[in-house]
Amino acid sequence: MPRVMIHPATYQDCLVAVRRAFELFPQPIAGKKVLIKPNVLRASSPDEHITTNPAILAAVVACVEERRPAEIIVGDNPGLMSYGANEASFRKCGLLDAAGGHYRNIGLEAVEQDFNPAWLPKVSVSRAVLQADVLISLPKFKTHGLTVLTGAVKNSYGILPGAQKALLHRKAGSPPAFHEMVVDVFRLRPPDLFIMDAVVGMQGNGPASTELRWIGQVLAADNAVALDAVVARMMGLDPARLRFLQRARELGLGDYDPAGIELDGALAPIPEFKLPPLGGEAIAGNPNIQQLMQARSQVRPQADPERCTACGTCVDQCPVGALALVDDLPRVDPERCITCFCCQEMCPEKAISLR
Ligand code: SF4
Ligand code: SF4
Repeated sequence: MPRVMIHPATYQDCLVAVRRAFELFPQPIAGKKVLIKPNVLRASSPDEHITTNPAILAAVVACVEERRPAEIIVGDNPGLMSYGANEASFRKCGLLDAAGGHYRNIGLEAVEQDFNPAWLPKVSVSRAVLQADVLISLPKFKTHGLTVLTGAVKNSYGILPGAQKALLHRKAGSPPAFHEMVVDVFRLRPPDLFIMDAVVGMQGNGPASTELRWIGQVLAADNAVALDAVVARMMGLDPARLRFLQRARELGLGDYDPAGIELDGALAPIPEFKLPPLGGEAIAGNPNIQQLMQARSQVRPQADPERCTACGTCVDQCPVGALALVDDLPRVDPERCITCFCCQEMCPEKAISLR
């Protein structure tokens, strides 16, 4: 039965929780190549809590070093806003120092892999990910406008370097399809161990929201579906409603049924936790929820003129060219917008909300 660790922690004492995770989920690290993948969505300060906290990464690196691996690589492929700025992103997030000399730009070498032709027949995956004997994923406890929560499964989206992530957003074209595509990326190389930064989490309009929540936990598991199911329940959401977890279960990647998950620690829903707009009711086949999904696909980004600096980043990076600056404010073409929420994710001023 899959087990999920829920361990109290602060950023000062998180080494205790991380050590416990390695005891509960031992990995064959001695003499092996280990890749540690934090969530580096974009270049941002650790105080914004958009990315995995440096204290968590430093604790994981320390535990891996103790087990005498042949090689440690710490790497990720940041999202749209930080293409071509891999090292700069790690530095700004405080993760370059926390990597203890093991940082590498894993976006520079990739290997083509067969993919689901419904999205793309081939994708390129970071070579370091495919060559790792042990892959350790360090997701952050956050909400996400498209997948509701961005946890263990979604953190694997970063194994794809460069603009493929945007292209796949466009190919998926709808929120339910995006849920399914994320699982297809995840199963290209499922990580062996997940240690989640849930000390300070994010609620509301994630994955780059300003609404932070103190949670005071480190979570860990060796199964992504079980871990994300626990995260969903902590957020007050039934995991069975999330299409990406349904899809993962259909593919035999794990189960979200609480009866089939052993807990090491106490699971308590976070009071009045704020989910993204519409609660991300991403289940296929349920007419009520299909209506909600339809409504969700009609949500459009809108820029706040008080915050927008007309930098043009969102316009340049929209994967379908749906944005244009008009009178120094981005305007969306609703016919072209595929509601990928990349513009919200990448705006440096957090000026975009979903309406
Ligand atoms: S909305 Fe954000 S990314 Fe777009 S132009 Fe304004 S400040 Fe730049
Ligand atoms: S306008 Fe924003 S949400 Fe719409 S397709 Fe472009 S990046 Fe995605």
